[in-house]
Amino acid sequence: MSYINRGRERIQFDRKGSEQDLHIVECSHCENEFRTPMNVQKIECSHCSASAKFDHSDFRVIGFIENHQGSEMAC
Ligand SMILES: [Zn+2]
Repeated sequence: MSYINRGRERIQFDRKGSEQDLHIVECSHCENEFRTPMNVQKIECSHCSASAKFDHSDFRVIGFIENHQGSEMAC
């Protein structure tokens, strides 16, 4: 498991979180990275306007932003 802290955010790479968590996804068409929660009908790239459901391979999940405190593990 790898993660970095960016401010208050903790990004967990190569993992999926809860549906309402912000996920970092990469568009396979233009390699644009953007953030979106999973609990949407479909996601849409803000750069090339490609859209797809998460099940499709148009977007690769890079990781998710863990924002709930309290279950901290010592590094
Ligand atoms: Zn795109």
